[in-house]
Amino acid sequence: MSKKKPESISEIPTLVIDADLLIIGGGNAGCFSAIEAKKLNPDLKVVIMEKAHISRSGATAAGMDALNTYIPNGKTPEDLVRWSRSQVGGGPIREDLALSNAQNLNEAVEDLERWGLPILRDEEGNAKYRGSWDISIHGEQLKPIMAEKALEMGAEVYNRVAATALLMDGDRCVGAMGFGVRDGKFYVFRAKATIVSTGGACGLYKSYTSDATNSHHQTWMCPFNVGTGYAMGIRQGAEMTSFEQRWVATRTKDFCGPVDTISVGYKAAIINAKGERILQKHYAHLGGDKAPRYIRANAPMDEWLAGRGPTYADTTHLSPEEVKELKTDYLNERPSFVLFLAARGQDVTKEPIEVYGSDPYVVGGHTQSGYWVDIERMTTVPGLFAAGETAGGNPNKFVGGCAAEGKLATRGALKYSASVSLPALDQAQVEREKERVFAPLFKGPDFDGVSPLEMEERMQRLMDEYAGGTSQFYRTNEERLDYALKNLKMLQSQVEFLYAKDLHDLKDAHEIIDRLEVAEVLVHHLKARKETRWPGWQTRSDYPEIDPNLDCFVETRRNKETGEIESFTRPYEQIVPGDRDKP
Ligand SMILES: Cc1cc2nc3c(=O)[nH]c(=O)nc-3n(C[C@H](O)[C@H](O)[C@H](O)COP(=O)(O)OP(=O)(O)OC[C@H]3O[C@@H](n4cnc5c(N)ncnc54)[C@H](O)[C@@H]3O)c2cc1C
Repeated sequence: MSKKKPESISEIPTLVIDADLLIIGGGNAGCFSAIEAKKLNPDLKVVIMEKAHISRSGATAAGMDALNTYIPNGKTPEDLVRWSRSQVGGGPIREDLALSNAQNLNEAVEDLERWGLPILRDEEGNAKYRGSWDISIHGEQLKPIMAEKALEMGAEVYNRVAATALLMDGDRCVGAMGFGVRDGKFYVFRAKATIVSTGGACGLYKSYTSDATNSHHQTWMCPFNVGTGYAMGIRQGAEMTSFEQRWVATRTKDFCGPVDTISVGYKAAIINAKGERILQKHYAHLGGDKAPRYIRANAPMDEWLAGRGPTYADTTHLSPEEVKELKTDYLNERPSFVLFLAARGQDVTKEPIEVYGSDPYVVGGHTQSGYWVDIERMTTVPGLFAAGETAGGNPNKFVGGCAAEGKLATRGALKYSASVSLPALDQAQVEREKERVFAPLFKGPDFDGVSPLEMEERMQRLMDEYAGGTSQFYRTNEERLDYALKNLKMLQSQVEFLYAKDLHDLKDAHEIIDRLEVAEVLVHHLKARKETRWPGWQTRSDYPEIDPNLDCFVETRRNKETGEIESFTRPYEQIVPGDRDKP
């Protein structure tokens, strides 16, 4: 938008761009999707719509120090599925998706190395494993490497264009619409097939660090991934799966930095205030150090509840050389944590690093919330495919798995698009969305409304207190969930009072609108799972045990006629043999 704000919405220019394949979100999965499409057919017009700038966007923006999954010699894709299943207590997981991802995983990781990612290897050339499946990398340049490859292959990238809605032809997705967060223009992308890869949803819950002295979005996840990819599909009646399996992680306290870097990378045990190794001492019956991921993530918070907090990653055994290496690892992934330690003058060999639970996120890359997809990664909306954290049912994908899924979604999308053509542009739909998108900017100077920040704070506190946030040690019950739903609906009814002073505010306004959509679906999922299957990730105080009748997927979809969210279940199908809760 030029310096002068247009007088009215009709003055805002609309750009229409046609593509063979549209990718919404040029992150980890999105870049791999684009590269795969150009590899399969260099003549295709492949367009990426990216809210930030693809060179540094999404989960990998700040870099990584490890790729969490790479299948070592002697192990098979089935072994990886077994491990992944065991980390979520035996599932249910979509084993069909997990297996196809695992079969394409190593190729995706090796692509990254070919394009320039330094993978740490021993003298014999074997990748250096930190744990059973994760390998060490120098990954500060991880995102630029993916982005440059996508550009080199000829993908057309529209940076700083935030998607707000799918473009529909009846029930079929034929592209997407959105606005330039810097240029203020309205964008319409028409495509034979569309892949949504906008990452997970952060900022649904209040982060315990969000206060006057800390930054507003002091979170583990990329704060700009707010769940728009889910919200756009929910509005079109897409089926969503497993939102109740929230990702809650143990992070460094007051900073939300990664803990695996210390606990796995440097064998730092998690200890409580009494110096006890908590997994061995208090969680041995659940598997101790080898307990499923949610038990390990929830244990430090349970220690607080039991009166044995604070909890720490015990770094006091590290040598000066190891401390230096540890800081180098953080410089590859979370550089500001090194400054945090320095600012506190903390010598980690004398004072261990405190750890605490994060606020809950909806992510299909660690846990398994997202779109219900078929084996080609097509969602229940024809023409719309999902890859990475937006695709549900398949946890523990991480960087390599999201990359592999980007490739798989592209293969599915290109197969689909070979038999379809583009319909004429529905001008009325475009005008309706344009009005909706820019409405908060044109409320007038005397408009007495609600700012995006005010609404966001209200929603985050509501979710935190009633839908199982950090302040409640992740616990909730039916009555609290009903209260959350009632108040989410009230907030949704006030969206028309949102105002935006500028384009940045307008971005914030749409972020809160989309978060409300995702939060509503999440609460329905939490209500439908009347049991406690993954404590911490999903804890129902009123149903503290596992219900064997709920060994299935919880699903939702918005009924487009009534506007209501409907929940139902889908059966679990075991494909990979073995004990479900054993790796
Ligand atoms: C802090 C952190 C640390 C992690 N550490 C590791 C690790 O050490 N090892 C490992 O293997 N995995 C790790 N993971 C997991 C892994 O990084 C992610 O699962 C994976 O990268 C997600 O890929 P994605 O493509 O689904 O999402 P992203 O890579 O996040 O891509 C989403 C993209 O969509 C864009 N976008 C969002 N909204 C819109 C919109 N409205 N319009 C257009 N574009 C939009 C974003 O800007 C972004 O570019 C970590 C994740 C996080 C958050």
